[in-house]
Amino acid sequence: MPIYNPPLRDMQFVLHELLQVCTDYQAIAAYADVDADTINAVLEQAGKFATEVAFPLNISGDTEGCTLDRDTHEVRTPQGFKQAYARYVEGGWPALSGDPAYGGQGLPLTVNQCLYEMLNSANQAWTMYPGLTHGAYAALSAHGTEAQKATYLHKMTSGEWTGTMCLTEPHCGTDLGLMRTKAEPQADGSYRLSGSKIFISAGEHDMAANIIHLVLARLPDAPPGIKGVSLFIVPKYHVNADGSLGARNGIYCAGLEHKMGIHGNATAQIMLDGAYGTLVGQPNKGMNAMFVMMNAARLGVGNQSLGLTEVAYQNALAYAKDRIQMRSLSGAKAKDQSADPIIVHPDVRKMLLTAKAYAEGARAVSIFCGVLLDKVHHHPDEAVRRDSDEMLSLLTPIVKAFFTDNGWAATSACLQVFGGHGYIKEWGMEQFVRDARINLIYEGTNTIQSLDLLGRKILGNNGATLKKFGQLVTDFIKQAGTDAAMIEFLQPLIELSQQMTPLTTEIGMKGFQNPDEVGAAAVDYLRITGHWVFAYFWARMAQLALQRIAQGSTDPFYTAKLQTARFYFARLLPETASLLRTARAGAAALMDTEAALV
Ligand SMILES: Cc1cc2nc3c(=O)[nH]c(=O)nc-3n(C[C@H](O)[C@H](O)[C@H](O)COP(=O)(O)OP(=O)(O)OC[C@H]3O[C@@H](n4cnc5c(N)ncnc54)[C@H](O)[C@@H]3O)c2cc1C
Repeated sequence: MPIYNPPLRDMQFVLHELLQVCTDYQAIAAYADVDADTINAVLEQAGKFATEVAFPLNISGDTEGCTLDRDTHEVRTPQGFKQAYARYVEGGWPALSGDPAYGGQGLPLTVNQCLYEMLNSANQAWTMYPGLTHGAYAALSAHGTEAQKATYLHKMTSGEWTGTMCLTEPHCGTDLGLMRTKAEPQADGSYRLSGSKIFISAGEHDMAANIIHLVLARLPDAPPGIKGVSLFIVPKYHVNADGSLGARNGIYCAGLEHKMGIHGNATAQIMLDGAYGTLVGQPNKGMNAMFVMMNAARLGVGNQSLGLTEVAYQNALAYAKDRIQMRSLSGAKAKDQSADPIIVHPDVRKMLLTAKAYAEGARAVSIFCGVLLDKVHHHPDEAVRRDSDEMLSLLTPIVKAFFTDNGWAATSACLQVFGGHGYIKEWGMEQFVRDARINLIYEGTNTIQSLDLLGRKILGNNGATLKKFGQLVTDFIKQAGTDAAMIEFLQPLIELSQQMTPLTTEIGMKGFQNPDEVGAAAVDYLRITGHWVFAYFWARMAQLALQRIAQGSTDPFYTAKLQTARFYFARLLPETASLLRTARAGAAALMDTEAALV
């Protein structure tokens, strides 16, 4: 059976030593009372819930999957999921970072993010049921009317009702402008929606009393394309004026997908048959509101891969210490045994350290983004809110795509540590790999993330936000550069930093001549930028570890951090040398290929 230990020490390191989040929170009235002890105590309990309640259902949920009753259109989730969710609600976990005005506990979103990292490690499929509700909550809270907020947000905060996002249709995934679902206005101001959606995560289940679907659809007079898409709330059950549940609404699950991973999560085909809905935000401006949910979900998907990388790493490490095979090349290490544990072999160590470096790098970036999100929502200074939003929007596609590409590579490497046993179901490793695969696809494929980063977020504003991130890096290099012990980390960071502007300008110039040049470079470009961000955070973590050791700390945590930083700079960051060449290789080798792609 797989193991999982919540990485509380590393979370505390990032939260309180690296980023000192409570100092930031002192400037935010809503969080001024939040101290390190409170955060640590909450995360300790969260870790208990993840390990004791969600984790034991991971393999059984994967094996059993969800079942649809075609007569009632009801979905039964795997055994134990419903009870675990009831305990989650009872424990107040859905409300952790909710607005107190709607019954929330008002803790920072960063704390919720750490909770979700642990839940994702424990059971990604289960975690998606409560997880999607946060994005739906955010979209409604930003764009809903007061009446909509009053009707839905209390119950979504408490977790009594869950949320979904219904965008995809059979002929329209990436290109939402092709959407066909229709919304007919009614005399009472409501709408009747008809059409079919596919691939809707948590689209039907037995865990909550009501499901609040956020559905994209077209009004009769809508302009064609993405500018004619509006957003609607479509509840599974009507909600009476007193908040009680009314009749069943015309939105049904017509089928469940049989898929590669996340079997415990119901991926539903959804049929809308004259379903009652109310408009969220302005007509034809549905994407504005939906983007609030999509951005939250993109950070959430990155967090899913962080969670899977961590749990896969922990299991691979335990196995590598235990499994004996062959002798170390440099002479027997476990002389009392017939062979050495495989952890003595350099390549096994490389696989383990790859996962560790990707997990810890991602945790630092993820918590940094959590604090940005907290500032966007609550900081009193408008300029801080604006700057934080800008930085978060730059980092969001990196979190989504870089974390999930790394998560796929890392879970696969951790499976490889088990040799043939990794491929066998009982060890649980193949499930981590299968579950991790979807993260590269949904919430906008990683290719789409790369186009968003390079096309919209960087070239679209002449690199202004990228320069702001570059300024953070430059300031750090200046401050840390006086320490000779930091040279090994700063030198590669400086070299990569010097490449960012010329690379961006070169692709931008080529893109003016031929837009396919941007598409040809974007995926490699995102990976380079992801490494740049990781290198900055790994250098900061190395600096802190060096300082603690110099101050006399004998805590092996800091030595481990330093060694992992060295591994990252020596073995993972150099991938950028090859990526810098491929990002510059141009579109011709891809596009002038009519004969090759017949
Ligand atoms: C398990 C699962 C859960 C899901 N959950 C949800 C959900 O809750 N709600 C929801 O609405 N949707 C959901 N989805 C749908 C998911 O978001 C889409 O599958 C995804 O956005 C891709 O759309 P598509 O599958 O139609 O692929 P397509 O859009 O057909 O893309 C096919 C390929 O072409 C590439 N491509 C397309 N356009 C471009 C371009 N302009 N440039 C470069 N490459 C391009 C894509 O990157 C991809 O590799 C889910 C999907 C799955 C499998």
